[in-house]
Amino acid sequence: MSRKSKKNKPRIVLKNAVRCDKCGCAFVPETLTQREGEIEYSFFRCDYCGKAYLVSVTNADLRKDIRRYRTLAEKHKIKPLSEQTLREMAALKEQNLKRAAKLRQIYILEG
Ligand SMILES: [Zn+2]
Repeated sequence: MSRKSKKNKPRIVLKNAVRCDKCGCAFVPETLTQREGEIEYSFFRCDYCGKAYLVSVTNADLRKDIRRYRTLAEKHKIKPLSEQTLREMAALKEQNLKRAAKLRQIYILEG
């Protein structure tokens, strides 16, 4: 028995758009990066009022681990990795996300 649930709710949305908290305009964010020492910020600005929104903050260590994760993920696409490695990858990803969340709380983008 198969149940296909096709709920097509008509909604008008700008694809990938976000709404600015400050001016309420919807815009498609374009992510920019900015380096300050070993800290790298990813952010975007509102098209209309210029308010900056922080996407992520990374330091050199975290970027290294993110690269490590991506390298493994790329390898996995070509040839499936072992269960053990996949578990390590999942742990690495979780750790990276936690570290990114922490950094995001510490560093605040001005402007
Ligand atoms: Zn705005």
